[in-house]
Amino acid sequence: MAAIIKSQEKLSRRRFLSRGLAAAAGSFFVTHGLIDGQLPAALAQSKVVDLTDLKKVFKGTLTTPSEASFKEAVYGGLWNKLLTTRSPQIVARVKDEADVSTIVKFAVENKMKVTVRGGGHSWCQTSVRDSGIMIDLTDLNQVISIDAPKRKAILQPVISNREAQAKFKPYDLAFPTGHCPQVKLSGYMLSGGMSWNQGVWGHGFESLDAIEMVNAKGEHIIASKTENPEYFWAACGSGPGMFAVATRYHVRLHPLPKAMAASTYFYSINDMAKVGDWLSEEAKKLPPSVELSMWILPAPKELKDKCADHKGRVCLVTASIFEDDFGQAQKAAAMLEKCPVIDKCLQKTVCEPTNFEKLFDASGALWPENLRNKVDSTFSNATVTEILEIAREHTENAPSDLTVVMWAIFTGPNIPEPQKDAAFSMSSKLYGGAWTMWRTQAEDDANIAWHAKYMDLIEPLLNGHYIGESDIVGHPEYLKKAVSGRNMEKIEELRKKYDPDGVFFNYRDGLS
Ligand SMILES: Cc1cc2nc3c(=O)[nH]c(=O)nc-3n(C[C@H](O)[C@H](O)[C@H](O)COP(=O)(O)OP(=O)(O)OC[C@H]3O[C@@H](n4cnc5c(N)ncnc54)[C@H](O)[C@@H]3O)c2cc1C
Repeated sequence: MAAIIKSQEKLSRRRFLSRGLAAAAGSFFVTHGLIDGQLPAALAQSKVVDLTDLKKVFKGTLTTPSEASFKEAVYGGLWNKLLTTRSPQIVARVKDEADVSTIVKFAVENKMKVTVRGGGHSWCQTSVRDSGIMIDLTDLNQVISIDAPKRKAILQPVISNREAQAKFKPYDLAFPTGHCPQVKLSGYMLSGGMSWNQGVWGHGFESLDAIEMVNAKGEHIIASKTENPEYFWAACGSGPGMFAVATRYHVRLHPLPKAMAASTYFYSINDMAKVGDWLSEEAKKLPPSVELSMWILPAPKELKDKCADHKGRVCLVTASIFEDDFGQAQKAAAMLEKCPVIDKCLQKTVCEPTNFEKLFDASGALWPENLRNKVDSTFSNATVTEILEIAREHTENAPSDLTVVMWAIFTGPNIPEPQKDAAFSMSSKLYGGAWTMWRTQAEDDANIAWHAKYMDLIEPLLNGHYIGESDIVGHPEYLKKAVSGRNMEKIEELRKKYDPDGVFFNYRDGLS
């Protein structure tokens, strides 16, 4: 049986381990992970939890702080290398969906909390909480079935955007995945999912028929608009505040657009305002099948000299076009040729045939792996010129040559309606922000300060934050702006109803 060691003291690593080893045979001394050999004061109270019975039924891997592999189990799978110092007490890497149920039941019996790790891509690392059990879903990475005639598929959560499109492509089908190749569907779907071809396909969650989940009692349930609809409502946009583990997504697929094309236009930042003003009007006339964005980013090598006045930064307009007919794609692309300052364009590619592989390669190059990051993506009803100009000088002075500022301008005559039947509730003309990326610890202070100032500068123009890409750890106040008022209250009411004992970490628990 579990015994509690009531200790308020900070333990040295040696004493910590010796206490652990002194625990009854078969028991594991489970405590907060050590940071530099010390227990964080807030978590100095520890307990002995007996894992013997659990180990008989749990098929995956259980890792505890006394094991050499613990650090890797907690932090190894995180995308952002600006690592948190938070730590769970156990990492439970499940082998299958039954394991998820087993570990949630174990947590309930032992009065421990659980947190879920999907792909580990949360920029602010919400999957790592202080104390509790981290349920690592890494091995739930299979496409269970594809029913091509019905355009349906069942997917486990830890499948990347690139893998998903590659699986559907042989059937000429596609799914509204996110933009970067490695990001997993797991937390993307629950956050809402800002997707490729969103103007036509909608957000990722809008192509969900049902989600299989393990709830706070460890029961396997299925949630859809008709079955367990409140779970389904919450799962469509509650992001890191979901009170169940999603184990399978039942999705609707879409015909793969037959004529995908991409255009890029580089302009000097001197011409940015003119381009932006024109684009803001033009975007309304473009079909929703055009994904239009405007960026400030480091200029490619061959343009660096021409951008010297702006510290080597350049303005870029990109259009990704998802049509079935190449003539239609060309027609949409042709509109960008009418820019009033097109003669000043520094470099361009016009309506080049593309596919998901190439789009993922391009996104992968803009958001490289193994970097330290601060990220906030947001919604705004300003014009793209207003939001780029308000922070133009600051953007040019970004300390890192990897940082990008990107604003997507929703195309078509109307901005997308706010969702009525999902926790996700954002609607705006623009979506974007700063992705602050750098390489080394020595650069942390400068980049963190730069990012904070960028957020301060654009704040007056914002009307919301994206729950899937906002720093809700550093800025809990962003949460309220990420789910509109009543919807956040409803999420919390449903949490009380379905997870009354708080088995799942809520938005803020364990994020010291
Ligand atoms: C390079 C990069 C590019 C990105 N591009 C996009 C984009 O184009 N569009 C977009 O919408 N987002 C994008 N994102 C954000 C991304 O969608 C979110 O970070 C999302 O949470 C990633 O999913 P994950 O499973 O890796 O998250 P994790 O970091 O593993 O988990 C984050 C949180 O989600 C919850 N969670 C995850 N999986 C489950 C589950 N199966 N059941 C219950 N709860 C779960 C947990 O509460 C956890 O705290 C991008 C992120 C990165 C790093």
